[in-house]
Amino acid sequence: MNSSSRVHNFSAGPCTLPLPVLESVENEMLNFGDSGMSIIESSHRAPEYDSVHMSALADFRSLAGVPDDFAILFLQGGASLQFSQVPMNLLNQNEKAGYLNTGTWGGKALSDAKSFCSAYEAWTGASENFSRMPQVDEIELGEDSRFLHITTNETIGGIQLPDYPKVEIPMVADMSSDFLSRPIDWECFDLVYGGAQKNLGPSGLAIVVVRKEIFERNSQVSDGYLNYQNHAKADSMANTPPMFPIYVMGKVLKWMIDAGGLPEFEKRAQERASLLYNAIDNSDGWYKCPVDADSRSLMNIVFRLPSEDLEKKFVTEAIDFDLINLKGHRSVGGIRASVYNALPLESVESLVTFMTEFKESNQ
Ligand SMILES: *Cc1c(COP(=O)(O)O)cnc(C)c1O
Repeated sequence: MNSSSRVHNFSAGPCTLPLPVLESVENEMLNFGDSGMSIIESSHRAPEYDSVHMSALADFRSLAGVPDDFAILFLQGGASLQFSQVPMNLLNQNEKAGYLNTGTWGGKALSDAKSFCSAYEAWTGASENFSRMPQVDEIELGEDSRFLHITTNETIGGIQLPDYPKVEIPMVADMSSDFLSRPIDWECFDLVYGGAQKNLGPSGLAIVVVRKEIFERNSQVSDGYLNYQNHAKADSMANTPPMFPIYVMGKVLKWMIDAGGLPEFEKRAQERASLLYNAIDNSDGWYKCPVDADSRSLMNIVFRLPSEDLEKKFVTEAIDFDLINLKGHRSVGGIRASVYNALPLESVESLVTFMTEFKESNQ
């Protein structure tokens, strides 16, 4: 297998990673820095790993512009564990938090939180089939709410908040599927989290960035493994960390810093998405995007064809052109092209060419 046999991978996650990162991992796999072993065979207390780990923390901070009053945690359990761990650490059982029910992930975050606090729906897109994000004046915050939970990008529905809403209370954001694809306005947030496997690396790692002030709160986990502060105090090495995803993400972060940082990745995201949305919009309605124009995701581009049979044919024939993983999520159907940070523009160009040709031979 060489790099020319790699496919255009539109997977929603885990997903494509930068080729130079994979090559560097391959080069180091048998002998990391003359240690005579790979990094995943090393002790997490060894100096080799320590330097990988601390660089990943520092590079995340510099790339994302994380202020000093936030701690960065590398945790296991995916973004999904955060649906519970966030309310456990930020609230006691009786405290209130509002949740935007913007689709599959916002809905899950809300339903998990109900076991740990008084969580309520501050807006729901259910009656509109989750085809858009709310305007800020549609968000209904109850009195004494400690935070508003938002999902900045709904990976399955293909909708994204164009801006971070300006509400009067701090926000908590699940950024799993648009993490570090644009600058983060830290002022607005008490906590931001996401799984690594969409924009930043392999699965098995969640990144939680939390305002240190919340460590002083009366939480439901005053100590122990689920307590954020214990991980913060130990630089996320309170127990064996997920070394491999941290190591690979560290390389992705360096690759992003070298490429120009978040403004560059924001620009690339806009380029990739506008190529695709233009192809959809210029197809005389043959390809249709079921999402409101203002809420279109730059990361997960969803669209329909005139029939489900044509959608099946589209997904199958695309494979002949090395265009892989285009089937929409089983819960919504249609086509979904996930175009994360590491996806080269050429992959999107190939997809657009295929879309034009497929339409011509099937309309
Ligand atoms: C993928 C995803 C999740 C779930 O992530 P896991 O790491 O599998 O738990 C949560 N939220 C969003 C927005 C996602 O895209």
